[in-house]
Amino acid sequence: YSSMPDWLSRQVQTQPHKQALIADDVSWTYHQLLHHSLSVKTMLVKAGVVPQDRVAVYCRKASSFVLAVHALMQSSAILVPLNRKLPLSELAFQIQDAQPSAILVDAEQKEQAEQLMEAAGLQLPVLLIENGLNEEEHVARQSFLLTDKQAIIYTSGTTGLPKGAVLTYRSQWFSAVSSALHFGLQKNDIWLMPMPLFHVGGLASILRAVIYGSTLWAQDRFVAADVLVAMENENVTLLSLVPTMLQAVLQEAAGRPIVHHLRALLVGGSGAPPALLQKALEAGLPVCQSFGMSEANSTVTVTRDEQSLLLPGCAGQPLSCVQVAIFDEQGEQLPPNASGEIRLAGPTMSEGYWNRPEATDQAFQDGFFCTGDLGWIDEEGRLFVLDRRSDLILVGGENVYPAEIERVLRGCEKIVDVGVIGISDEKYGQVPAAFIVVNGPWTEAEFYEYAKPRLATYQCPKVVRFVDELPRNASGKLLRRKLREQWQMSEV
Ligand code: AMP
Ligand code: MG
Repeated sequence: YSSMPDWLSRQVQTQPHKQALIADDVSWTYHQLLHHSLSVKTMLVKAGVVPQDRVAVYCRKASSFVLAVHALMQSSAILVPLNRKLPLSELAFQIQDAQPSAILVDAEQKEQAEQLMEAAGLQLPVLLIENGLNEEEHVARQSFLLTDKQAIIYTSGTTGLPKGAVLTYRSQWFSAVSSALHFGLQKNDIWLMPMPLFHVGGLASILRAVIYGSTLWAQDRFVAADVLVAMENENVTLLSLVPTMLQAVLQEAAGRPIVHHLRALLVGGSGAPPALLQKALEAGLPVCQSFGMSEANSTVTVTRDEQSLLLPGCAGQPLSCVQVAIFDEQGEQLPPNASGEIRLAGPTMSEGYWNRPEATDQAFQDGFFCTGDLGWIDEEGRLFVLDRRSDLILVGGENVYPAEIERVLRGCEKIVDVGVIGISDEKYGQVPAAFIVVNGPWTEAEFYEYAKPRLATYQCPKVVRFVDELPRNASGKLLRRKLREQWQMSEV
């Protein structure tokens, strides 16, 4: 029996007046959230959307995005969230791949959506979400199957062409429940989410709220000062940030005591430098580092104490239903402390990539999802993340992890941001090159004065480039692929 009562209907039956969502200019109870979602469903049905259809969602406002997610679940259609920060050409690729039957937009994003249709050479109905404009003609659904597809999330594409990870109601359920088993639940919890909702972390926060019957506070535009103000609310007990946002929040507080009632502040999306985490602890914030990804329906591991938090690269221990293991290139599982590819198993895993049987076969082997990330697990079961396998630099046979070099360099107060890639070298095959953003005047000689004593000879960048900014995506991830392109351009 894999049928389950509809999550939103259940909240409306049991606590209709509970606050479901705080976002931009709205504050909705569960009753209101369902009502508005059903009015969006009416629009979908009129446009001919039927169960199992894909529908792209391209919204500016958090409230429209959340409505779209619920309206699609009420319609048993599959959500394809579009990342507003991606260029139209990349989104056009995703649309052609997912073949949605409509695109849901809000007024703020409508023009872009029409341009996107042109770029993709498609004529999909562009459906505008306007609260309260449509009559509610449908009733809430009673139940659904856990095996149904809920969303297709295109992964950030830091390596190649984006692939759509298929998430199911089952993966969402297990992700939300295992998160609750770790962080606990309290009656009036509000989870503050200033991260984009179109990424897996944001989407999972919408699902957690409706599964728990708790309140989501979504801020669709990250403003450090707004996060500090929201944290003063006594019910804001959980907060998710990417490392660059945490840095901005600490800067905004400028050493003043931060008023908060947080049980946990999850830092995810990429590894935060220990110095930043240390500063957050000093500011009295209950930070923990998490590791996760689209294919695992968000969080996989999380640090459980301050000591682990401050170990370089430590991403903590797995949530209850996730299995994490390390494998070598031959597909053999490795013992503790040996590094290799991080592989994951458990009911939060995606069932595969949309339309991509070969990529799915390659990534899902013997019951494990092969992440393409390198790392190791210590005797206590803590995961340490080294790097993407494709970013590994081979310097005359030595494995050099760019993230390790970046971590060391970020410890320098002159260096605001840093990205390291491998470039080809006649003698060693490959050598590291560092792209750095500095605050104020600094010379190459001073760079080496800092770097040389702190890095092994083969780790020390052979080339250093001063740049104004590094290419990062919406979740703060460094796009090393773009750096490699920049390097190649500068070489010709
Ligand atoms: P995505 O493919 O966009 O879902 O992002 C998932 C990827 O982000 C992972 O495969 C890792 O490469 C990276 N990532 C996430 N959390 C961490 C972390 N704590 N440390 C290092 N890398 C991370
Ligand atoms: Mg990925």
